[in-house]
Amino acid sequence: MKRLIYAFVMVVFNFSASASYNQAPPSFAHKDHKAIFVDFDHASYVLNFDNLSKLATVESTIDFTVTEEGYPIFDLVPEPLDVTLNGLPVKVELTPDLDNQTQLRVIQLKVPAGTYQLKIKHVITENVVFNETGVASAFWLSDLNDRGYLEKYIPSNVEFDHYPKKFHVNLMGFEGVAHTIKANGKIDKISDSEFEITYPETYTSSSVFFHLFPEKAITKNVSFYYTSIDGRKLPVDIYSVVEIEPFVALTKLLLAELEIDYGPFPHDQVLIYGTTLLKGGMEYSGATATGLLSLGHELFHSYNARGIMPANGNAGWMDEGMARWRDNMYRQSAVIAHNSAKLAGHSIWRRSTDRDSYAQGSAFLAMVAHKMNLKGMHLKDFLRDYFQRNMFTSVTTQLFEKELIEATGIDFSGDFNRYIYGRYTPEEKSMPVIHAEDPHHPEFSKEELLNLTMPKG
Ligand SMILES: [Zn+2]
Repeated sequence: MKRLIYAFVMVVFNFSASASYNQAPPSFAHKDHKAIFVDFDHASYVLNFDNLSKLATVESTIDFTVTEEGYPIFDLVPEPLDVTLNGLPVKVELTPDLDNQTQLRVIQLKVPAGTYQLKIKHVITENVVFNETGVASAFWLSDLNDRGYLEKYIPSNVEFDHYPKKFHVNLMGFEGVAHTIKANGKIDKISDSEFEITYPETYTSSSVFFHLFPEKAITKNVSFYYTSIDGRKLPVDIYSVVEIEPFVALTKLLLAELEIDYGPFPHDQVLIYGTTLLKGGMEYSGATATGLLSLGHELFHSYNARGIMPANGNAGWMDEGMARWRDNMYRQSAVIAHNSAKLAGHSIWRRSTDRDSYAQGSAFLAMVAHKMNLKGMHLKDFLRDYFQRNMFTSVTTQLFEKELIEATGIDFSGDFNRYIYGRYTPEEKSMPVIHAEDPHHPEFSKEELLNLTMPKG
């Protein structure tokens, strides 16, 4: 009996998913059974940049756990080639979810619960530039577009999942041309043509910063240690295609501000790519590619959005609402200009952030701050505790609502229903919703992204 119990426990243990797995979107009907979201345990990627063929090819090996029988789901925007599961060739179909919100890659083999190894080859064409100076490649990510995270470049799980990732970068046919890699992971330079990057296991598909470029393409680079309020010597690395001193000076001011407000910087490094973008940038965990004017907004995201992380598209409004509320100098307001909003009321399979999150999310928080202030409380103080309590985990709107109500004793549920979940009354539904693009996250053109990848001159 004892042996049997032991064997049973081992099986359950082997197939048990990580803590974040309970944030996975629900399985959905597929063929004779269902497509199931899986739990990535580890992903390693060999990235080959070949100067002869001018191709960036990738070989990926992903170990994952399946907790119930079904057709496993992952995602990769480029076409997967030569896919095997536990060494056997399998077909993969691009499949929409039941609400037609997104598309996912579904492995056309029904498998029981267990652990599996997926191998995939593919070619990256997005933001890869081969020219006479060398090769550049960058994984620029976006929260505002569907399938805009790591899956745009390499096979990934959807946003809820935290798993360790390793990149092995090979540069072929670039003898005598030095290249640089900037990444928010640990970089080991094996030789002039071979690098290894290890990213923390806390990272999701929205966390990773990766930028490879010919050393001569970007010459402005300042590195220093910033003494954190917890005494750490925090390495700061700033590289830039524009004047770098303003970035250095502002970074020091912003780190001081953010650490006073929200506690020690949550990541092991600060990596900043100073760009020509007048306004706007992109956020990563402890990293950003940004214009000077959005540097504060993007560094704030290292606490909220890329420190604590949204579990899905319905959680993304908090990232932009809170960042915009900080941009707006933590404004308070008794009233909200719009009648209702639906920032977290979308399909459970939606993966991108509602574009109205900046204006409507920050207006909502201004009202929350006002109501708290009337009772002698401060929303910023709550956020500091909320960030620290949930750091490096995935959060949902429901969790934020629950913690806010518990901490303040104020019943915000009606406000959440009306301004966040979009549970409109019939009259409110006919009210016009005002949509506005936010200056901190404008839509970047393909050309702008390519110029960030391989700067001209
Ligand atoms: Zn933002």
